[in-house]
Amino acid sequence: MTNDRQTIAIIGAGLGGAAAGALLQRAGFDVHVYEQAPSFSRLGAGIHMGPNVLKIFERIGIDKKLLEISSKPTHWFSRDGITGEYLSRIPLDGYGTPYCTVHRGDLHGLQITALNEGTLHFDMKLKEIEDSGSDVYLEFEGGTSTRADIVIGADGINSRVRETLLGFEKPNYSGWVGHRALISADKLKKHDLEFEDCVKWWGPDRHMMVYYTTSNRDEYYYVTGVPHPAWEFDTAFVESSREEMAEAFSGYHPVIGALIESTDEVTKWPLFNRNPLPLWSKGRLVLLGDACHPMKPHMAQGAAMAIEDAAMLTRCLQENGVSDFKTSFALYEANRRDRATRVQSVSNANTFLLTQEDPSWVYGYDIYAQPLKSESAA
Ligand code: FAD
Repeated sequence: MTNDRQTIAIIGAGLGGAAAGALLQRAGFDVHVYEQAPSFSRLGAGIHMGPNVLKIFERIGIDKKLLEISSKPTHWFSRDGITGEYLSRIPLDGYGTPYCTVHRGDLHGLQITALNEGTLHFDMKLKEIEDSGSDVYLEFEGGTSTRADIVIGADGINSRVRETLLGFEKPNYSGWVGHRALISADKLKKHDLEFEDCVKWWGPDRHMMVYYTTSNRDEYYYVTGVPHPAWEFDTAFVESSREEMAEAFSGYHPVIGALIESTDEVTKWPLFNRNPLPLWSKGRLVLLGDACHPMKPHMAQGAAMAIEDAAMLTRCLQENGVSDFKTSFALYEANRRDRATRVQSVSNANTFLLTQEDPSWVYGYDIYAQPLKSESAA
């Protein structure tokens, strides 16, 4: 194992950047994380974390706490959105660690606590980046600058680091939006209906994924996929309304009706994606997560892929060291590209677990048990 004391800058402290920071620091690397936001707020959204990610969180040391605070569904049910008929009942156990669903802000907060004190820098929006050949110069809005030996672009779908590697290109608007709402479970009690731990309601051209975000099941969450011809806003999301939801899901199952009736606040997010990138790194710069392979969120594996990337990149840097970044980055891409691209394409197609299929290729994957493929095998 090589842990040479060279510096690593990570741009973006999202779910992927935070994981990369914590894993690299635990492996002994000198890492700083630069985040554009002035602070993080508890955004109204939930997230799934499968056993493939829990295995990585074990290494970071946050798995137990996550399991304590999250809901642990035993199945992913797929149901017809109108009749309620079961289309599949997918067991989520048998992968060594539980499957969990949680509030996204709580997960992110937990990940941030795993970073070494003083290594996460807020209010640092990367503006310029220049690979000098012997190191990298980074300049942030407001004029602060720093240097690092290598830079990891974990800066999301509109990545500034990706732009440096490949030029500016807007992501593709998929023609779909996702509505997100958190619902107090108390409000659901008046309905004589069953609110299952993790269920996806499928319509002919739209769906609603629903699950609890807490271990005591006091907060329920839905996220939709609904066709919407064009995204006409500049912001990451806009407010939606109970009325808009009722219209989008008119005629759907009574459980969906009850969820909409119990909605206080709901937001609407455009779903963007990109085609697989021709390269994942150049010189001293490398990408991970949504900066590298953004996808529609329909497998609930986008963040999972960012976190798996972080684990594999750490393995490859441990194997070869920062000084031999070229070999490390090539090895990383060789060991991630096929899986990330497969997940990206299945997720974009929105077919995952609609029928009684075996998801072990996703959840049974243990990134630490994979023999490293040589870079030339890519
Ligand atoms: P991000 O989370 O986007 O983080 C990027 C970070 O970089 C941000 O903090 C940003 O502020 C920062 N940044 C950006 N530009 C700069 C800059 N110039 N300088 C400094 N910092 C910068 N995935 C799952 O695994 N499970 C799910 O259940 C799930 N549900 C989803 C539901 C919806 C509706 C959507 C839209 C996505 C969902 N995803 C889910 C996907 C998941 O949110 C993303 O794949 C994941 O957040 C990607 O992580 P990331 O760290 O690569 O990027």
